[in-house]
Amino acid sequence: MAQASSGKAELLKISSGEAEMRYDWHCGAYWSRFFLGLRDDKKIYGTKCTSCGTVYVPPREVCGPCFAKMEEWVEVGPEGVIEMFTVVRHAYTNPSTGQLIKVPCTDVYVKLDGADTTLMHWLDETDEKKIAIGMRVKAVFRERRTGTIHDIEHFELI
Ligand SMILES: [Zn+2]
Repeated sequence: MAQASSGKAELLKISSGEAEMRYDWHCGAYWSRFFLGLRDDKKIYGTKCTSCGTVYVPPREVCGPCFAKMEEWVEVGPEGVIEMFTVVRHAYTNPSTGQLIKVPCTDVYVKLDGADTTLMHWLDETDEKKIAIGMRVKAVFRERRTGTIHDIEHFELI
């Protein structure tokens, strides 16, 4: 195979065209109740396993370890602690919009007060020197809510 005389490999980019399509999906009873809590009440709800007591946020219908169907709903947050975070400097596609996210931004996993699992969202701080595991944060709700996870605009440090 021939190689360029400079010795550098050529990196190719192939475009296969553009496509745009509307994508709808049904949330089901559990996600609907979760999103309606955000939209209508600015409240965050999870499900609690009556067998082991684990509180899941986002809510799950079945407890993984117990295989028990969960029908008890509990309010959690809106404050919690940072369990993990990443300051993102390379844009990725926002699945809600199809557009690249603005960087830098901070992806954060928050364990809300009263929950045993974490909720992934965004933090409004992008200076990693100001962020630490265990710091307290609070959900900031949008004024205009539509029934999605983005009814929480982001989390902020408190
Ligand atoms: Zn359980």
